[in-house]
Amino acid sequence: MTITTHSCVVKGKQAVDVVTQTVDYSGKGTLIKVLRGGICGSDLHYYQHGRVGNYAIKMPMVLGHEVIGTVEQSDSPKLQPGQKVAINPAKACGECQYCLADESNQCLAMQFFGSAMRQPHVDGGFTQYKVVETSQCIPFAASLDERVMVFAEPLAVCLHALNQAGGVTNKRVFVSGVGPIGCLIVAAAKASGASEIVCSDISARALALADTLGASATLLADDEMVSYRTDKGVFDVSFEASGHPSASTRCIDVTRAKGCIVQVGMGGDIPQFPMMTVIAKELRIVGTFRFTHEFTTAVEWLASGKINPLPLFSGEYSYREVDEALQFAGDKHHASKVQLVF
Ligand SMILES: [Zn+2]
Ligand SMILES: [Zn+2]
Repeated sequence: MTITTHSCVVKGKQAVDVVTQTVDYSGKGTLIKVLRGGICGSDLHYYQHGRVGNYAIKMPMVLGHEVIGTVEQSDSPKLQPGQKVAINPAKACGECQYCLADESNQCLAMQFFGSAMRQPHVDGGFTQYKVVETSQCIPFAASLDERVMVFAEPLAVCLHALNQAGGVTNKRVFVSGVGPIGCLIVAAAKASGASEIVCSDISARALALADTLGASATLLADDEMVSYRTDKGVFDVSFEASGHPSASTRCIDVTRAKGCIVQVGMGGDIPQFPMMTVIAKELRIVGTFRFTHEFTTAVEWLASGKINPLPLFSGEYSYREVDEALQFAGDKHHASKVQLVF
């Protein structure tokens, strides 16, 4: 069967459009009617700059990787029509060395929604109808707040970051940069039993949100953090989520010897990397990229109310107003997470 769908397509820098496309459903996989989706930093980058890092838009691509929907039809009896699902935007091959080692976020043939990393680009979820693998659908109860469940993907990113640190239970935690991801790390660390969560950011508005989500203390980014540098630093784990090179250096200063720094923000290289400090303090610096099984955990945590992300919800637009929605989402003085309704 062939269905008509309206999709939010980016064609290059500052060029986004709602276009009519068709979807073919053969009965294999699951046909989803998309309910809503969250606008993420990468969607904004494709819109504002026509690229994310090295990956430029070379052909029209449907945006969006944070989406939920209802099942229209599925090849699995477990997914009945009308069932609400969060959609895992990561489609790994299941066959490469990383997939076989349960490290599917490093899949050599990853197809991730709304990503220009590969040619042809992988279309995203900002569309009315989409066919996905049945395994990408994580069911949730119809009574739950849809605005909350849209946070499954960014929360999964944060849960993976916590796992990369080896967990944060009873640990002193520093979060550098509290945009939506930094704030969700705060909430996840609090729910995981961190003993202290200190945050820094250049924005007082961002810090107020971090406070609401569970921070123990908030500091403006120009604070010297003198008391946190004593005795080789005080934090067991630091999450650098601002992407600013100077913030990475600060994390190295305030993390205790033998501690761990998780680099979450995608920043540039650090001009004068303090390698000697890393060696002498025996720091572990680890990257974190997307997620694996954490997506299902994120759906569970949101469904159970273990985390309430709604303070980060800044408003919603019809998909027909995707241009306005992206402009508002890009206004960091007023917007955190903006959602599109389909
Ligand atoms: Zn995202
Ligand atoms: Zn693979």
